[in-house]
Amino acid sequence: MRAVDLIQTKRDGGQLTREELAWLVQGHTAGEIPDYQMSAFLMAVHFRGMTPQETVWLTEAMMRSGEVLDLSSIPGPKIDKHSTGGVGDKVSLVLAPLVAALGVKVPMISGRGLGHTGGTLDKLEAIPGFRVNLSTEEFTRQVRDIGVAIVGQTAQLAPADRKTYALRDVTATVDSIPLIAASIMSKKLAEGIDGLVLDVKTGSGAFMRRAEDARALAKTMVDIGQGMGKQVVALITDMSQPLGRMVGNATEVVETLRALRGEGPEDLMEVTFALGAEMLRLADIERKPSAARQRLRGAIDDGRALRKFQEMVVRQGGSERALDELEQRVRQAPTKPVLAPASGFVTAIDTRQMGLAACILGAGRQKADDAVDHRVGYEALVKLGERVERGQPLVKVFYSDEAKLPEAICMIAAAYEIGEQPQPNPPLVYCSTTSQM
Ligand code: URA
Repeated sequence: MRAVDLIQTKRDGGQLTREELAWLVQGHTAGEIPDYQMSAFLMAVHFRGMTPQETVWLTEAMMRSGEVLDLSSIPGPKIDKHSTGGVGDKVSLVLAPLVAALGVKVPMISGRGLGHTGGTLDKLEAIPGFRVNLSTEEFTRQVRDIGVAIVGQTAQLAPADRKTYALRDVTATVDSIPLIAASIMSKKLAEGIDGLVLDVKTGSGAFMRRAEDARALAKTMVDIGQGMGKQVVALITDMSQPLGRMVGNATEVVETLRALRGEGPEDLMEVTFALGAEMLRLADIERKPSAARQRLRGAIDDGRALRKFQEMVVRQGGSERALDELEQRVRQAPTKPVLAPASGFVTAIDTRQMGLAACILGAGRQKADDAVDHRVGYEALVKLGERVERGQPLVKVFYSDEAKLPEAICMIAAAYEIGEQPQPNPPLVYCSTTSQM
């Protein structure tokens, strides 16, 4: 086989076979096919797309490029959740311990912030001592013992994705549905899970801004799961404003603790319960949505979810004291308000800009090797549809470097659109797509 022939087939709109895709992915991962040929292939896919069958084969090849975890020694169904990424999206932090408290085994492999979006690992690392780099043995043992672990991807898990993702980032080929779907699903399927609940975000802070693109991505990922014999459900949820109120790292852990104490903001809890009900259904713990929600709420009300979160934190190197310190640090951080430039109703929020403003403050990376400042972020005091008066604080910024404030404040102020008439808010949960198993 020659890479140039496979590139040409795809460039001309043809279809590749399972063997051809496996050969290409293996060759590139092993360093035998150079980045320039892989880049040309990725661009051909970007323009020509892939058939559903090709997308399954590409995912399979990427999944098999490294180790595929075997979690069969852990009794019970292993169910994970993945979000396509957003701003203020701390759902995994609340949801993983919550469903684990109800008996779901949650082996969660998460990522860092990408572009304007935040990352679960960066948020957890705001907890002093928290380790996200457990060995496979530690990870498996922890899931078996306490039902939940949240860790980072090892170099052995889907290395093909690591390599192609880096290329896509610099060749303008990130926003391709088959490539995004194969990237996400290859990593998730290499975790050795039985089922997966996907949170596909749509709106101004999502990679898929338009609901129809989010739907297409959701369907592609669900079909991949089905093609590989896994139960996958995708919910399409709103990202046209930051989820909850807190954005950043330590700030989002603070909001997680509030949510686990029963004081979470409505939108965060609604998305958490919708995804949680699907996880309980896939795990065969509770199939009726209303009963599932009742159980989820019950585990928050009686403190089981909070205790499970604390248990996970302690097992991964943190402590309850570290959590208290983190909360205190956020309470004591210097803050600056961003004021409403006019009176009226908040009619739109450019959530991507809001995410970029968090990066400017230091909560995310502007270059891959930047360090994250875990202390900084902001609290959105006003949500979509609410009325504000000129000069009223829209956002409270938590900062550590005053020099970064003017740009971040400008971006946040410009992200809020204030009009005379209130606009209807988009739905929080649009729809779900389920594999037929
Ligand atoms: N997240 C991923 O893991 N991969 C993509 O391609 C996009 C978002």
